Amino acid sequence: MPAHGGQRINAVDSGETLNLVSDVTKVKTSLSVVKDRLLKGQIFPGCGEECRNCQAAENGCDSLRRGIQQLIDEGCLQFDQGRPVKNDVSTALL
Ligand SMILES: [Zn+2]
Repeated sequence: MPAHGGQRINAVDSGETLNLVSDVTKVKTSLSVVKDRLLKGQIFPGCGEECRNCQAAENGCDSLRRGIQQLIDEGCLQFDQGRPVKNDVSTALL
């Protein structure tokens, strides 16, 4: 008699599809937060930490928006609309 029943429970993934954002203007997270994380991850987000334009802008300066859009286009940065802030940025490094 086999010691184990060999029964396997297949926990099927809920098949939840990620609702990825492809446009920087639709990113719900504050771009300054995104910028901060990118900088910490050694990724240049379009402008530096001390960017005055960002300090003046409500949600990131033009360079930052362009930089983040480019990262999204390249697939280096993904945002998922339905996730809490903690998990909304994932970086797939080159
Ligand atoms: Zn900036």
